[in-house]
Amino acid sequence: MSGSETFERVAIIGIGLIGSSIARAIRAAGLAGHVACHDADSEIRARAVALDIVDSMHNTLAGAVEDADLIVVATPVGACGAVAQAMRDHLRPGAIVTDVGSVKGSVLKAMGPHTPEGVHLIPGHPVAGTEHSGPEAGFGELFQDRFAILTPPPGADEAAVARLSSLWRGMGSDVEIMDAEHHDRVLAITSHLPHLIAYTIVATAADLETELEAQPRDDDVVTTREVIKYSAGGFRDFTRIAASDPVMWRDVFLLNKDAVLEMLGRFSEDLTALQRAIRWDDGDALFELFTRTREIRRGVIEAGQAGRFQYTENGDSEDEA
Ligand code: NAP
Repeated sequence: MSGSETFERVAIIGIGLIGSSIARAIRAAGLAGHVACHDADSEIRARAVALDIVDSMHNTLAGAVEDADLIVVATPVGACGAVAQAMRDHLRPGAIVTDVGSVKGSVLKAMGPHTPEGVHLIPGHPVAGTEHSGPEAGFGELFQDRFAILTPPPGADEAAVARLSSLWRGMGSDVEIMDAEHHDRVLAITSHLPHLIAYTIVATAADLETELEAQPRDDDVVTTREVIKYSAGGFRDFTRIAASDPVMWRDVFLLNKDAVLEMLGRFSEDLTALQRAIRWDDGDALFELFTRTREIRRGVIEAGQAGRFQYTENGDSEDEA
């Protein structure tokens, strides 16, 4: 155990990509005396035990959270409320409860009413991830040089926020504090909308294939093989993003509905303007836009957020370097 230990017992609920990455990162940096875990799925519990990434695996939620001074809920966002309700009577006074969900306003609404007096609820979101799921997909370096956003509710205990911040820093992240609504608007444009676009474009390409295959013409057949074959273009990155977990993303869109619809409205307007520029051969408009976006990409690289990895949910995927 290193001298940087900040928690006695951390309970991780949901040992998928994010939960297992946290377990590995905590262990690698010696940030907790004991890492307990519960996952609703018995097969996933067994797989996590085989990976030897936690100190104790529990068949029940109560068993995992008992005596924990930090509980990290790493389930899909839609399950957070039910988890909070089920564990409320088993939490130790003074414990910190956090989560890693990609949407924050709804988490606060779902978990807040089930958080007992004397327990500190501080929702969080590591802006790091991949399109893969499950305990095997996690890795301890996932949060390195990434942002962890904490969205403490008004009046949250400052010492608890500081403790949780120090855990994320110990896992290699830069910590940002903001309110939940602001988080949801920012992530709607930087993460949620790009996923929506990826899901759409991949589905559109699949529909096109089906349509063309149904009415084959010798001179104009786009087969599945062709789409895969030529996917080294921009399409390849869309297919990777569109492979992201369907449960997680269903929850994100349903639970960040207002912000996503607002950003989608703005995006549609801009897309229409681009459509018009193409139709009217307005090369200057296209050139100006593409120059501006290239500058934005430079800014991302300069901010150290391009990474060695390929971007997916809010962060990285397989190292393509
Ligand atoms: P994941 O790999 O699918 O892991 C989630 C795990 O939670 C699964 O093993 C799931 O079991 C389990 N689970 C579901 N309901 C549960 C419950 N009621 N009690 C206990 N365990 C339960 O998903 P993930 O990618 O780690 O995502 C987890 C959270 O992190 C989500 O809220 C997501 O928004 C957030 N996040 C994800 C990323 C990313 O890139 N993936 C990045 C940042 C944040 P079953 O599969 O059997 O349901």
